[in-house]
Amino acid sequence: MLADEVLKLLSTEISPNEYECYIKQLKFNEKASNSENIVFNAPNELIARFISTRYSDKIAHLFEVKTGIKPKINITLQNKAKSTKQNQQVDVKQIKTQSTLLNPSYKFENFVVGDSNQFAYLSCKAVSERLGSVYNPLFIYGPTGLGKTHLLQSVGNFCINNGKVVICVTSEQFITDFTYHINNHSMERFREKYRKCDVLLIDDVQFLGKTDKIQEEFFHTFNELHSKNGQIVMTSDKPPKMLKGFEERLKSRFEWGLIADITPPELDTKVAIIQKKCEFDKIYLNKDVINYIATNMGDNIREIESAIINLNAYATLMRQEITLEFAKNVMRDQIKEKRENISLENIIEIVSKELNIKPSDIKSKSRSANIVEARRIAIYLVKNLTPNSMPQIASYFGMKDHSAVSHNIKKINELIENNEIFNLRVIELKNKILTKG
Ligand code: ADP
Ligand code: MG
Repeated sequence: MLADEVLKLLSTEISPNEYECYIKQLKFNEKASNSENIVFNAPNELIARFISTRYSDKIAHLFEVKTGIKPKINITLQNKAKSTKQNQQVDVKQIKTQSTLLNPSYKFENFVVGDSNQFAYLSCKAVSERLGSVYNPLFIYGPTGLGKTHLLQSVGNFCINNGKVVICVTSEQFITDFTYHINNHSMERFREKYRKCDVLLIDDVQFLGKTDKIQEEFFHTFNELHSKNGQIVMTSDKPPKMLKGFEERLKSRFEWGLIADITPPELDTKVAIIQKKCEFDKIYLNKDVINYIATNMGDNIREIESAIINLNAYATLMRQEITLEFAKNVMRDQIKEKRENISLENIIEIVSKELNIKPSDIKSKSRSANIVEARRIAIYLVKNLTPNSMPQIASYFGMKDHSAVSHNIKKINELIENNEIFNLRVIELKNKILTKG
């Protein structure tokens, strides 16, 4: 059923804990719902109120994703559920096909700007204000969870409010759409949609390199839009040059306009982002708690957000104030769990796999350049992600003493400082380890 599908989608966007505590208690009230008004029943006032403020927008957005219609979401108490609209059911026939699928809360005003993302932010603003004439295309890249989608959709929301026709899709949606229209012999409609808009936003463009047919279609979409000054903005996890599976002619087009990167936020930006999120979600955290989260969590803002929601969920359920002590207790497991799960062996395994060498090479005495580099990266990541001491690391990697380890770490730090591509690779590896660990 539609409502179930929507809640299932929602479950992939929020933490399992939030889902268990709140969303699972919702019951879809089919009788009271129609395509523009969706009613869910909640078991008590607290949960009803919390879900209303916290998730209504998201749920409405997901209905829009599914049906093309953005409904009003009503969360009512179980026994007070009205039954006046008994005969109205969700009318799936009314589904409109055109929908921009923009998340309304992804706006420039909600984006916290710091050194790490300022360039990308300003580029997006400039492009929104002068469509097709300053930087076309705009290509934004950086590791996951740092706000690329947020910025991309901010461009979309800004332009929609100025009456522009905006198409915003992930590259997967582009592929699905393409396949659908091919199978239905309706490519005209596909082309009408993607080539006649004012703004085309493609999220996670790195996945478009999968098949030649898609690339061919995207190539023509790009050319036609570009020649008519239609604005194109793309996001990706890597810069155009490093994209895998893409034809040269596409990669070179991606470089025609402006390329802007987003790097992990500095501590003060992280603190500001947390403050903003709390304001937005009406969660009160004191300064110490905010600092604790900013210093102890990784760089992925999505994970930080879900940690805050989690913390708030615990506090609400246990009727506790969120003191630093309480936060440490709730988050200790998360933080420790994350670190404990990562072993030296995990790191060696992931680094060697990603850099295409044998795990045994990393511990060997080989001096060949790529092995030396992989070994250094592994040492750096072990030092950063595990509690192993310098002497322990030295002994594991068969090095003379801890000063040899320091030397390696110093070299890597220099490279990270001076070489953007290298820096990106290390961040990517770190993320891979953190998510698999
Ligand atoms: P990406 O697309 O780079 O993986 P997202 O745009 O999905 O990252 O961001 C993940 C979450 O972090 C989103 O909820 C987004 O609103 C939030 N976020 C990231 N950076 C910022 C920022 N600078 N200010 C406010 N929110 C941010
Ligand atoms: Mg994204």
